[in-house]
Amino acid sequence: MVGDAAEAPHDCPLCPRLVSFRIANRAAEPTWHNGAVESFGSSDARLLIVGLAPGLKGANRTGRPFTGDFAGDLLYQTLLAFGFARGRYGASPDDGLALVDCMITNAVRCVPPQNKPTPAEIATCRRFLAARIAAMPRLAAIMVLGRIAHDSTLAALGVRKSSFPFAHGARHEVRPNLTVFDSFHCSRYNTNTGKLTPEMFRAVVQAIKRTLEAA
Ligand code: URA
Repeated sequence: MVGDAAEAPHDCPLCPRLVSFRIANRAAEPTWHNGAVESFGSSDARLLIVGLAPGLKGANRTGRPFTGDFAGDLLYQTLLAFGFARGRYGASPDDGLALVDCMITNAVRCVPPQNKPTPAEIATCRRFLAARIAAMPRLAAIMVLGRIAHDSTLAALGVRKSSFPFAHGARHEVRPNLTVFDSFHCSRYNTNTGKLTPEMFRAVVQAIKRTLEAA
């Protein structure tokens, strides 16, 4: 159970556009989660994965990050392959899947229209990301999925973006014992266009595994 400064309340009021979108989604799909999506996993984990924002029919529907949409298929299969998850990913929060030494969160906790949070929404939601990071005492690696997650994570850490440019496969020693690993986002668009192949994604997770094993 999370539910502290690191987690936005279910009906977070901070971003007017996202509140309006939530109200409309709730009217259209009253059985969906339709609220801020909590981070998944234990805050004792050494790895934090930072996504962009809940997908409308994925995490916004199911209430668990990356669960029930295309991006989750590659993410959870890869985490299972490298031992960062155990069980079976069944695209539903009651599938029994457990994360191992890993937590998953989003730079923006509420679903944005067209999957595109505004710069103001990203900045407003950063308080939760910063608190999430601060509440992980063993944190040694952060995997950022895409440039927005990269930029917001560096801002949350209080380090300059220009010192650590985003590039798929890059790793940034942002402070002693904390490395940020960059990956393109595992979205349907990126995988369908070949910008991100499953092999490219696996290579980043493998590098993280090796780094944590060597620590
Ligand atoms: N689902 C999430 O929770 N986050 C993303 O970035 C994409 C899909």
